Amino acid sequence: MSGSNGAYWRLRLRPIWSIAAPCIGALVACTVAPYTKRSQLILIPEATEIALGADAYRQVLAKLPVSHDPELVTPVRSVGERIARVANHPGYKWEFNVIVKEEANAFALPGGKVAVYTGIFPLARDTAGLAAVVGHEVGHALARHAGERMSQGLLLDAVLTLGAAALGGSSPATRNLIYQALGLGAQIGYVLPFSRSQEAEADYIGLILMAKAGYDPEAALGLWQRFAEQDKDRPPELLATHPDPASRARNMRRWLPEAKRYFAAATPASVEPLPTPKKP
Ligand SMILES: [Zn+2]
Repeated sequence: MSGSNGAYWRLRLRPIWSIAAPCIGALVACTVAPYTKRSQLILIPEATEIALGADAYRQVLAKLPVSHDPELVTPVRSVGERIARVANHPGYKWEFNVIVKEEANAFALPGGKVAVYTGIFPLARDTAGLAAVVGHEVGHALARHAGERMSQGLLLDAVLTLGAAALGGSSPATRNLIYQALGLGAQIGYVLPFSRSQEAEADYIGLILMAKAGYDPEAALGLWQRFAEQDKDRPPELLATHPDPASRARNMRRWLPEAKRYFAAATPASVEPLPTPKKP
């Protein structure tokens, strides 16, 4: 962490101290998730969440093996850009990167910072399957699930405390608290699951987004089925807190007619098979 970032934290974290407490009364029940209209408790200003997400993304990418292979990166970015266009959130600066890891995983940080692991390519199979993964992650970002997590009692305390700590320079422990609040495990060893209702919400938003972006939403059913069948000993973020595969499939089928209507109205995207990544 460089010296200039100290100033960055001072700038970005002060609003948590000054704004969070007075907003507790005003913001409760006045935040509503996009697409589902679920009421949310979010006590963190979105600008703060975006700043934390952008900084954590830089830190995380510096630690993880980021791929620069165009064969892997191009499909992820082209799917990502299509999804980002229909997500239509001008305040987010979308970024899509590929991490060379065998684990079937992906994550999104606030502000539209997405990473897809190469381990997901064989499960996604093609760009339509990839659109289901990216749509799900973009769904987490749009619905501000990290902001919700940070607003939960204990983590809000952590964010407030680390805000104070950040004023005097940030320690590795501080960083870990930020990562945890954002859904990343200590030292980025793992991606923490969101709650079951957040996962279902990301599924729904992802399905709608992929359809609007021109990918047949039916591809999501196949993708989640393949996920359910893979090794459950180390459940990835995308599986960890989900209801059992049968209820997930039931949900998907229930949402499919609506998603199909968006797909019918969209300009179809070309569906290309994904390359098989080399073992890292
Ligand atoms: Zn998820």
